[in-house]
Amino acid sequence: MNRILIVEDEARIASFLEKGLRAQGFTSQTVASGREAILAARDADFDLMVLDLGLPDMDGHRVLREIRARGERLCVIILTARQTVSEKVAGFDEGADDYVTKPFAFDELLARIRARLRPAGEAEPETLSAGPVTLHLLSRTATVGDTVVELSTREFQMAETLLRSRGQVLSREQLLSRVWGYDYDPGSNVVDVYIGYLRRKLGDGVIETVRGAGYRAV
Ligand code: CA
Repeated sequence: MNRILIVEDEARIASFLEKGLRAQGFTSQTVASGREAILAARDADFDLMVLDLGLPDMDGHRVLREIRARGERLCVIILTARQTVSEKVAGFDEGADDYVTKPFAFDELLARIRARLRPAGEAEPETLSAGPVTLHLLSRTATVGDTVVELSTREFQMAETLLRSRGQVLSREQLLSRVWGYDYDPGSNVVDVYIGYLRRKLGDGVIETVRGAGYRAV
């Protein structure tokens, strides 16, 4: 099991990350300051750090420099609202492994975390299938049998999320947070609307409604 250190002072984002990572089988610990991050990276055995740059006591860049200067080798993914090229370049120069900007979709962050933690030589699958439906992850296209089906970006993300957890029930809330990110309205019916779109395009047999629980790819 992989252990992830979340360095984030905004409670809402931290709890969104914790819940999402737990649902994917990761263990995580959250700290809200640079000082705690530096201590935790030394004392605990983490595989990866998700690092915010705007921290209350010091800049995330300094956290990164300090842990790399000490020789800590855990993967670091910077997660920040700062989007300038100079911030990104500085982050990579200091030893970051990846850089994700806020607002972010949880699935993208998750894909980057998985990519970093994947043992060398083990490739990410290029397709996901359920019944006659195949999602081609590199070209972001879908086929049903031999027919190519046009999916919007959100539709594809939703189908991908369901097929990655094939056989497992995902609640509306899980689908909302994974596909729409943390800026969603929990009362929204957008998930049901998109399930409808997907059934129309991919056929009725692939996505099952589990009453009172959510949806599942079969
Ligand atoms: Ca912050």
